[in-house]
Amino acid sequence: MFNPEKINFEKFENKVWLSSPTMHGDELQYMTEAYETNWMSTVGKNITEVECQIAEKVGCKYAIGLSAGTASLHLAMRLAGEHLYGMPKLGKGSLYKKKVLTSDLTFCATINPIVYEGGIPVFIDSERDTWNMDPEALEKAFEIYPDAKLVVVANLYGTPAKMDEIRAVVKKHNALLVEDAAESLGGTYKGVQTGTFGDYNCISFNGNKIITGSSGGMFLTDSLDDANKVRKWSTQARENSPWYQHEEIGYNYRMSNVIAGVVRGQIPYLEEHIAQKKAIYERYKEGLKGLPVTMNPYDEDNSDPNFWLSCILIDKDAMCRQIRGEHHALYVSEHGKSCPTEILETLAKYNAEGRPIWKPLSLQPIFRSCDAITKEGSIRGCTDAYIPGRKESVGYDLFSRGLCLPSDNKMTIEEQDKVMEIVRACFE
Ligand SMILES: *Cc1c(COP(=O)(O)O)cnc(C)c1O
Repeated sequence: MFNPEKINFEKFENKVWLSSPTMHGDELQYMTEAYETNWMSTVGKNITEVECQIAEKVGCKYAIGLSAGTASLHLAMRLAGEHLYGMPKLGKGSLYKKKVLTSDLTFCATINPIVYEGGIPVFIDSERDTWNMDPEALEKAFEIYPDAKLVVVANLYGTPAKMDEIRAVVKKHNALLVEDAAESLGGTYKGVQTGTFGDYNCISFNGNKIITGSSGGMFLTDSLDDANKVRKWSTQARENSPWYQHEEIGYNYRMSNVIAGVVRGQIPYLEEHIAQKKAIYERYKEGLKGLPVTMNPYDEDNSDPNFWLSCILIDKDAMCRQIRGEHHALYVSEHGKSCPTEILETLAKYNAEGRPIWKPLSLQPIFRSCDAITKEGSIRGCTDAYIPGRKESVGYDLFSRGLCLPSDNKMTIEEQDKVMEIVRACFE
């Protein structure tokens, strides 16, 4: 129960953000260069440079600059769909009516592109060691859907998934893998950068990511064929002819040279941002000791996350009663206990921004009819508002008891101490 007497300050004068853009000056120089040379277009030196630098940093052959991470995911789904099922007929996507096995606990942008291509997501539950896709549940899903040929895995909050295990299951079933590394750029698994584990890989430069272009994203691959297709599709799929010749459906998904200027200015600071985010994570971990909470976990032997967001999970027996409907939440205050709703509301009262853990996509009304798979087995979709059994998942448990704390790399130590004071006061 929150006790305001335990707080010895009014509220933050400047809002403490969850994760906001951090500019360094070089960004403006490269944007200005685009302006002054009149490359105010989707062609230009910033794009070429950024593609080169990211490919080198991540360790892949080709990086294609796009308008968003979501655009990259869309092109990844289409590539996978056409590879698996051939070129789609007009009016049907390349994944038309095909089941696609995907992370359940993630941002909707991981899986909306499956639906853009006509596919039907099947949601795979999380495991507790990294909060990412559970390889056991994935294996279960292949038993239930032996025809499934595509898997989409996201690295949540910058923490790499269990890539060896997931890739083994994918390979065993002769399927393809899309890696959504939008949140994990710069994070590594067994010394290898995330964004290289899939057959198709996607990153994002959205405003709140570890580095940003204000918007933007990239498709990463070692395949020259795929790189060429993505470049072509992202610029309206023009054929190499003297006129506008079209043999495929295209998109307007190319990155702008102005946006690329921002990204170009940010790339040299990726490691610095990761170090700052890691320090924030470590300070929370140390400072919240003694409270009935744990931090978002990662495989300390095998992975180095980028620590994009610091999250906590409240112990089961320290949870006060909390009920979440589709649009509102209620809780009952109790001594010595708290819940995400109480902590988030209290942080907001003091002008600090937290966020709930992603609500599992299988629990979103729009995906009600889709199936969800836990380690124990299948929970069939239905059209009723209430889906029996679906709240038994690990993902739902993380959503119920977890939250993201302010993780902005410009947050001062004093500010972070105060954030922890607030969290502590919630368990009075
Ligand atoms: C941000 C994000 C995306 C989408 O990236 P945009 O660049 O905003 O389109 C996709 N997946 C995950 C997991 C994300 O966090």
